[in-house]
Amino acid sequence: MENNTLDNTVKITKLKYGNTKCYLLHGASKSILIDTDWAGKLPAFYHALREKKLRAQGINYLLITHYHPDHMGIANNLINIGIKLIVMDCQQNYIHQSDHIFYKDNNSSFQPINDKKIKVIKINQSRKFLASCGIPGVIISTPGHTNDSISLVLDNGEAFVGDLYPQEQVPLYNNPVLTNSWRKLHNNGASLIHFAHYADKSIISNR
Ligand SMILES: [Zn+2]
Repeated sequence: MENNTLDNTVKITKLKYGNTKCYLLHGASKSILIDTDWAGKLPAFYHALREKKLRAQGINYLLITHYHPDHMGIANNLINIGIKLIVMDCQQNYIHQSDHIFYKDNNSSFQPINDKKIKVIKINQSRKFLASCGIPGVIISTPGHTNDSISLVLDNGEAFVGDLYPQEQVPLYNNPVLTNSWRKLHNNGASLIHFAHYADKSIISNR
């Protein structure tokens, strides 16, 4: 295994300051925030951090499970305060797909993501990237809810899947893409699923 640190435990802080459950992973050397909320939620984000006695300056990276407006709304605000947005290569063509929703909404708080400030990582290099943060795990492409959906699976089985449709709904959709995404989660040892909106769910891992 790439990660040779003595302490492999990743501390997880749940941050909810709107309708989306966001997760902050504290690795041995760097921290990664998974998802944000709607544009205009920056003050609420700061408030949620203060309540947990955390500072935005202590967050190194932002990873977005998919570029829907309730997940990427304040991404560029966070870029502006020095949090690096990590975009997986399979997401690169989708990072502006929600901009029109905010423009139509006349949401004056919204800032589109500055493409020049993002860091694109190949999905097959994700374990190496996470290891550099002291986070044992992997990021996999899990389309089904959207084409750009990704999941982060820690080696301890905790998985962050965003808005992926729950496993019990898979037969309803009869969608091979969705079925395959759940198979991939199983094969990567996912056993405790953290959704962005649904409650956490334990599943039987294939591992
Ligand atoms: Zn969504």
